[in-house]
Amino acid sequence: MKDQFGRRIRYLRISVTDRCNLRCTYCMPEEGLAWIPKPEMLAYEEIAEIVRQMAALGLERVRITGGEPLVRKDLPDLVRMIAAVPGIDDISLSTNAILLPRFATALREAGVARVNVSLDTLDRDGFEEIARRPARRFDETMEGLRAAEEAGFAPIKINCVIMRGLNDHEVVDFAEITRERPWHVRFIELMPVGENLHLTDRFISTDEVLEKIRSIEDLLPDPGPRGNGPAVYYRFPGGAGTVGAITPLSHNYCERCNRMRLTADGKLRTCLFGDHEVDLKGPLRETGRIEGAVAEALAGKPKRHYLELGTAAGSGGLAALSQVGG
Ligand code: SAM
Ligand code: SF4
Repeated sequence: MKDQFGRRIRYLRISVTDRCNLRCTYCMPEEGLAWIPKPEMLAYEEIAEIVRQMAALGLERVRITGGEPLVRKDLPDLVRMIAAVPGIDDISLSTNAILLPRFATALREAGVARVNVSLDTLDRDGFEEIARRPARRFDETMEGLRAAEEAGFAPIKINCVIMRGLNDHEVVDFAEITRERPWHVRFIELMPVGENLHLTDRFISTDEVLEKIRSIEDLLPDPGPRGNGPAVYYRFPGGAGTVGAITPLSHNYCERCNRMRLTADGKLRTCLFGDHEVDLKGPLRETGRIEGAVAEALAGKPKRHYLELGTAAGSGGLAALSQVGG
C-alpha cells in the first residue's frame, strides 16, 4: 500500500471502542460523547477480516486502541484472530492500564507484544483533576503498569500529555523514572481538537519540556525502542530507559507517516486530522471485499495535517481523539 506521495503504509491503528472509563480533560468531555451505537460497531470477526485483506496488500503492524480498548469485552479473542493473520508481525496496545491487572496475561498470551500506557501525572490529586475520575483509578493504573511488567510486555512506553499549569511541574519526576526503570516516557504535545480547544493556552512544546529536563542533567540522543512512531528519544547517561518527544505541532512529521486508522464503526481514516474517511463496513457487509475502498482511501491520503491552526477546521471537525484511536 503506497499513497500518492510514495509513503508506504504498513501500520494500522484499530479503535475497538469509542467508550472509556476515564475522562481525560484533553480527550473527552466529562459527560462523555454520543457513543457509536453497538450495531454500528465492527464485530471482532469483521475487524479481523479487514486486517486479513489489508495484510494481503502489505499491512504488517497493528495497534489496538480506543477509547479504552480494555472496556470492550473479550479483547484477547480479537488479538488471537489478528495474530493468526499471515503477514502481521507486530501487535501492540494503547491503554490507560486500569484493566491490565485483569487482562495483561491473557493479552500477552494472545499475541500482544508491547503496550503503551497513558499516564499524565504521578500524583493522585493531579489524576482526579486531569482524568476526572476518582483517585483509586490512579492506584489501579499503577497496578496495571506492574501487571504489564509482570506479563512480560516489552518495551513499555508511557505516554504523557504535558499541559502548562496542570502537570508540567512533573516532567523532571517523569524523566527521573527512566534512570532506574527500562520505561520509555514520551512527552506528547497537546493536540487541539473540537472538544478541547479551550485548553489551547495549556499548550507547551516538547522543546520546552526537554529544556527543563536538561537543566537537571544532559540528555544524550538515543535510537529509542523499536516501534512505528514518530517519537525522538534521549537518555540520561547510564539510564535504564529513555525520554521521548512526540511533537505533532512544533515539528510536523507527516512526510514519514506510515499509518492509517480504523474507527470502531468501520471508517478508514488516512490522517489523524481532517475530515477524509472512507467507509469499509458498508462494502464489507455488502460484498465481503474492501480492497476498492482501501485504494480510494490511500488515493486521498493528504500530504500533511494543518493542526497548528488550533481551530475546529484545523482538526477537521474532529471532536475527540478517542473517536479515532488517538
Ligand atoms: N485509552 C487509551 C489511552 O489513553 O492510552 C487509548 C486511546 S487514547 C485516545 C490514545 C492516546 O491519545 C493517549 O496517549 C492520549 O494521551 C492521546 N491523546 C488523546 N487526546 C489527545 C490530545 N488532544 N492531544 C494529545 N494527545 C492526546
Ligand atoms: Fe480515555 Fe485514553 Fe481518552 Fe483518557 S486519553 S479519556 S484514557 S481514551
